[in-house]
Order: sequence, then structure tokens, then C-alpha cells
Amino acid sequence: MKEKIKTFLTSIIPGRVPAGVFPAEKNLAYRKKLEQEKKRLIKAIKTAEKPENFGNDTDAFDEEADEAEAFASGMAISQTLRDRVNEIDLALARIRSGAYGVCTNCKQTISEKLLEIVPESSWCEQCKKSQRKR
Ligand SMILES: [Zn+2]
Repeated sequence: MKEKIKTFLTSIIPGRVPAGVFPAEKNLAYRKKLEQEKKRLIKAIKTAEKPENFGNDTDAFDEEADEAEAFASGMAISQTLRDRVNEIDLALARIRSGAYGVCTNCKQTISEKLLEIVPESSWCEQCKKSQRKR
């Protein structure tokens, strides 16, 4: 009888129903990790795109060239960071849909070892390796 009540309660309390590969607590931990990383990246993007030192002293041509170069590399850096933010957004969407931790390529489980290092991974180690070989 007691067991029946427990089963019933578990079934009606939202969030207690396991969604996807990981238990809810683990998904939450990964979500926090991803959101933190996203915040950090957005800050870094702002820094990379900051137009400081541009157009202030345009007296020397060499300096101007350096500034243009610095600006271009800043934009390249910010693009790389933006790509990562997109990856993180996709991972967050997978957490919401319960597909987090599943390889989007082969549908196998992604190892937690990999997710600890790259929490936004959408591919498992095997798929990443075989992609590199090609
Ligand atoms: Zn895979």
C-alpha cells in the first residue's frame, strides 16, 4: 500500500519524472554550467568587439594598420565565441526537450567524461573521432 502511494506521488510531481538520459538533478547541473559559460562568453564577445583605441590617434600610418589588424582579429575572436554561444543554446534546448547527452549523429549516449569537459557537445567521442579522420 505504501509503495503504491509512493509510485503515485512520483508520477504526479513534476520534475521527478526522469527526462532524457540523465536524472533531473544532473540535467540541472549541466544547465547551470552551460548558462555560466554562456554568460562568460557574452562578456568576452563584448570585450573583443569593444572599439577602444580606434580612431583616437590616427597620426601614424603604422599605428592605423595595427589598429585595423587588431579590429579584424577582435572580430574573428568574437565570431568564434558567437559560434560557441550558439552551440550552448542548442545544448540548452536539448536539455529542455530531454535529448541532452544523446549524440545527434548516432543517437548513442555521450560519455559524461566528454560532457564534463565540453558540456555543449552534440556529438559523442566516436563520431567526433571519425569526423576528424575524414
Ligand atoms: Zn555519435
